[in-house]
Amino acid sequence: MKVLKFGGTSVGSAQSMKQVSNLILDGQKKIVVLSAMSGTTNTLVEISDYLYKRNPDAANETINKLALKYAGVVEELYSTEEYKKKVWDIIQSHFDYIRSFTNNLFTLFEEKVILSQGELLSTTIFTNYLNEKEVKAFLLPALEFMRVDKNGEPDSEYIHENLIKQLALYPDADIYITQGFICLNAYGEVDNLLRGGSDYSASLIGAAIKAEEIQIWTDIDGMHNNDPRFVDKTAPVANLHFEEAAELAYFGAKILHPTCILPAKLANIPVRLLNTMQPETFGTMISNKTEKNKIKAVAAKDGITAIKIQSGRMLLAYGFLRKIFEIFESYQTPIDMICTSEVGVSLSIDKNKHLQEIIDELKKYGTVTVDTDMVIICVVGDLEWDNVGFESRVLQAIKDVPVRMISYGGSNYNISMLVKASDKQRAMQALSDHLFNNKY
Ligand code: ADP
Ligand code: ASP
Ligand code: MG
Repeated sequence: MKVLKFGGTSVGSAQSMKQVSNLILDGQKKIVVLSAMSGTTNTLVEISDYLYKRNPDAANETINKLALKYAGVVEELYSTEEYKKKVWDIIQSHFDYIRSFTNNLFTLFEEKVILSQGELLSTTIFTNYLNEKEVKAFLLPALEFMRVDKNGEPDSEYIHENLIKQLALYPDADIYITQGFICLNAYGEVDNLLRGGSDYSASLIGAAIKAEEIQIWTDIDGMHNNDPRFVDKTAPVANLHFEEAAELAYFGAKILHPTCILPAKLANIPVRLLNTMQPETFGTMISNKTEKNKIKAVAAKDGITAIKIQSGRMLLAYGFLRKIFEIFESYQTPIDMICTSEVGVSLSIDKNKHLQEIIDELKKYGTVTVDTDMVIICVVGDLEWDNVGFESRVLQAIKDVPVRMISYGGSNYNISMLVKASDKQRAMQALSDHLFNNKY
């Protein structure tokens, strides 16, 4: 069985939902994972924000505006009065539930419950649409099988066992529909897999049932060779290795949630990235096949801080790096890049929560310099070091951009460079022009 995930824009209007139904009704049984309709999760975040700030009037106004949007969808999507009434009643009960929080004390727990409403709504709306068309579609509640443990890691055994039980409830189903993004945590509370996490849901579900393929349907024809939001003339990459896709997702290619490749890779399930609006295009196939010696794509990760620790004591000393790493570990701050010299070490982090405490502790070991507002630009491909020339082509491309750190050799799959946020766009464009567009 295949698992197909449709993102926010793919289910963002009645028209898009009709398009999705045309796509999935091919006579093959499948699991369909849906995000919230586009804009909904952002609006639910906004509502939560008003509730935190004890502004129930603004929250209610925002809730009413969102409800109005759903009223329009119901009117356009269903053809019978029976379904229009049935679904509108369900939708209203969700909005009444959200409204009920305007009188309560508001905490992170309530926020997560509110955020979960987007996927609960989209899946109910879509399942009923299929049922109105007399398709045997059944809703599998994600909160019955999707769970994370105390560390926020997926509880694979629980997911497998409970998903199988849910599937067994509807043996003659044509289509199973379920929610992306939402889950229970170790305490049985409603939680989520972080923003953009529906991709992760799809890949966990795919791994749990050993799916034949996981398909991520979105608003673009696959992984492009650079970020189309910032760079001109990008093009889709037909094939990526799991590692290449994971690096790109981790380093900012928004088309994929950073963690979603790992479960598919471990279960060796190919992941296809496809365009809902142009289903005939090939998109991107992510699998364990490599294409040797090819630069595939560029991505960028924002919000990076570089920290340099210089010390004469580092010269010929052992144990220096361990002490430095322990400081980051004690503040649960992961390190992205690292470069060393005889007299110093530079590191980059993307979590600034404990930056000041970390700096204070590092000062015990040397002179500390901090650069904020940096970006990691990552060039990905099968870049084995004994093939001469990759790093020189990359550096040649960005010869006019100041580079704070370079990392190469950590894996066969990436060369990373740290640049100022203000240089991000021109660095990415220059890389595309040199590496992919034969401009030079
Ligand atoms: P969905 O709502 O379907 O999950 P997302 O907005 O999360 O969709 O991801 C798709 C978007 O990712 C594209 O519209 C595009 O702007 C952005 N994106 C960023 N980098 C890339 C890339 N390298 N290739 C394709 N899309 C990218
Ligand atoms: N609806 C969630 C979000 O907007 C999850 C997702 O779309 O993947 O982040
Ligand atoms: Mg997404």
